[in-house]
Amino acid sequence: MLQSKKRTWVEIDENKIVHNYHVMDKHIHDTKIMAVVKADAYHHGDVKVASLLENEGCDFFAVSSVDEAVRLRQNGIKANILILGFTPSEHFHYLHELDIVQCVFSTEFAQTLNTYATTQNVKIRVHIKVDTGMGRIGFPCLDDNYHIDEVKAVYTCDHLEVEGVFSHFSVADTFDRDDDEAYTFHQIELYERVLQDLAVANLPVKIKHIQNSYGAINYPNLPYDYARIGILLLGNTSDDAQPLKVPCDLEPVLTWKAQISCVKQVKAGTYIGYGRNYQATSDIQVATVACGYADGLNRNASHKGLQVLVKGKRCTIIGNICMDQFMIDATGLDVHCEDEVTIVGIDGDEVIKIDELSRAANTINNESFTLLASRVPRFYIKKD
Ligand SMILES: *Cc1c(COP(=O)(O)O)cnc(C)c1O
Repeated sequence: MLQSKKRTWVEIDENKIVHNYHVMDKHIHDTKIMAVVKADAYHHGDVKVASLLENEGCDFFAVSSVDEAVRLRQNGIKANILILGFTPSEHFHYLHELDIVQCVFSTEFAQTLNTYATTQNVKIRVHIKVDTGMGRIGFPCLDDNYHIDEVKAVYTCDHLEVEGVFSHFSVADTFDRDDDEAYTFHQIELYERVLQDLAVANLPVKIKHIQNSYGAINYPNLPYDYARIGILLLGNTSDDAQPLKVPCDLEPVLTWKAQISCVKQVKAGTYIGYGRNYQATSDIQVATVACGYADGLNRNASHKGLQVLVKGKRCTIIGNICMDQFMIDATGLDVHCEDEVTIVGIDGDEVIKIDELSRAANTINNESFTLLASRVPRFYIKKD
């Protein structure tokens, strides 16, 4: 691929990643950061982000799949790596070959993994996932469905080395419903019950973790070893309509830019784009931008008044966003082919946060970042 700052690209500020890491590290006191770099660190570049943070002392990373874990190892990451989800049995060998920690979330999966480890005569490091109310993966550990015996049984799998037991919050980000906070506190109680029952049975839990980004800030001072933090390290919350309970001095790390390809003057009444969904109500100047939904600009954000920056001025997207291009109303601006457009980031006194795009597309920032396509090259910026 021609990796150039042409057409459309992102710029990622390394200093800001490091800054955000230290801000979070201070906020969570004795708890350590397990940096969640799944989905290519939400498209910020998993190897890059992990290398930077490992340098700053981060000793645990979390990913979603074995492919992601292998990529980190093959690119020199030495710290602990936890796979948060499922690993297909044909890839089990990577776990012991590359010293990767696997999440164990059901009896069936534990047995399959232990049988494999037994035949290979190896020990595989695991963290047991308990479901305290998320309802996704994990041994159910709810009031009326409490599978502690199955959790204990994982300790009897003699080729699995149980290092940690963890759970996951489902509403740590919101206080919308009266009982959202109570729900999260109850998840903590259920998790504590599991830890207590394991302690009584003399089953050790060296590493405990339940908080995600919002959990770490909205439910601070929990006595656990790690908080699994993803989105906040990138300097954004998931949604600015769900602010953190305690403001944190975080800086957005990613800037997204593109180039103008074509500028034209059109008459009132002219239709713009597929579907004729936009019609100029006066004479306007239309600029076409060389970036589209195949680059990750969500097509759902069409016709929502979403703006981009050109020469420090806000311009509104008009018509449907196309696969590789979109149009803006650039009336009154002196713009030309190859001029720079800021889709997310700062230009002059103006700033467009990823939240504006997410709101227009009716999603959260986590998804907006992961929609960024692999064909959008990344450039890393670092000031010494
Ligand atoms: C994605 C994920 C996280 C990180 O979530 P953020 O909100 O980005 O901090 C933590 N834990 C688990 C299990 C996850 O799947």
